Amino acid sequence: MSLPTTTYSIIVPMYNEEEVIEHTYERLKEVMGRTGESYELLFVNDGSKDRTVDLVRMICEFDPHVRLIDFSRNFGHQIAITAGMDHAHGEAIVIIDADLQDPPEVILDMIAKWKEGYEVVYGQRLKRKGETVFKKLTAMAFYRLLRSMTTVDIPIDTGDFRLIDRKVCDVLRGLKEKNRFVRGLISWIGFRQTSVEYVREERFAGETKYPLRKMLRFAMDGITSFSYKPLRIAAYLGFMLSLGSFIYLLVIVFQRLFTDTTEAGWASLMALSLLFNGIILILLGVMGEYIGRIYDESKGRPLYIIRDRHGYPASSSEAEA
Ligand code: UDP
Ligand code: MG
Repeated sequence: MSLPTTTYSIIVPMYNEEEVIEHTYERLKEVMGRTGESYELLFVNDGSKDRTVDLVRMICEFDPHVRLIDFSRNFGHQIAITAGMDHAHGEAIVIIDADLQDPPEVILDMIAKWKEGYEVVYGQRLKRKGETVFKKLTAMAFYRLLRSMTTVDIPIDTGDFRLIDRKVCDVLRGLKEKNRFVRGLISWIGFRQTSVEYVREERFAGETKYPLRKMLRFAMDGITSFSYKPLRIAAYLGFMLSLGSFIYLLVIVFQRLFTDTTEAGWASLMALSLLFNGIILILLGVMGEYIGRIYDESKGRPLYIIRDRHGYPASSSEAEA
């Protein structure tokens, strides 16, 4: 890449963030200016349908620190982060949400830790402000479930707001899996990791871009990328059910041969059959989740498609394409 390396790259994934993005830019600029070192603000537009892209393009025109990667459609938050890492030139790379829920000032604390020699500094949420009880509860359950399911040490209550060293970024770029759960991958990589605590603010404006559907998909990615336990639980459950059925079968045979109580029970048969069919379908679904992901990996499609790049010297975009 023809751009000189900078000290810091700040990656900002954006999906329909027209209401906040200018504020986010101002805050980031102010905070990064305080470091007195070189930096780039790398905005990744994840197929926004509003004016987000136009606004950032305008910022690009007059601020040489700002770059924009514009996706051809919505590829998802985790992929947007990944694209950011692919294009970052910094010695240290920070990932931060566009909605100012992660206070930019915390980046300075992260930088201080980085200078102490840590290679991953993740933000740990002490508190979440202005989020629904449902979101807080599901998030809490998710982080704990994930932890109990995997052998990878994924810290509780951390999001993607974190600083990673160039070395970590390079290793991450080499992991080509499609269903990416970035924070899990970073934990899996290892290196010297530490945390800084912060209070997660309310969204500055707009609403969450993670409806329940996306949240579920995200949770599935997190668990299936780092654990076979659901498959194992499926197998145990199948085994227990078979054992139960076999015992019941013995009882029936015994009754038929040695007693007069002939079976009347349509209801019990029906109930059992419904229950078992339900369980079998769930287990098939679990298998399907894994098989679907194997299928995704095998297709070998690129992770994302870029429509446009701004803020790069003309020559560099050709060289990289
Ligand atoms: N985002 C994205 N693509 C998506 C959904 C979200 O790039 O498909 C971005 C969004 O613009 C924000 C970040 O990911 O910068 C986190 O999303 P959001 O704040 O909506 O999630 P929440 O904080 O509610 O979990
Ligand atoms: Mg948010």
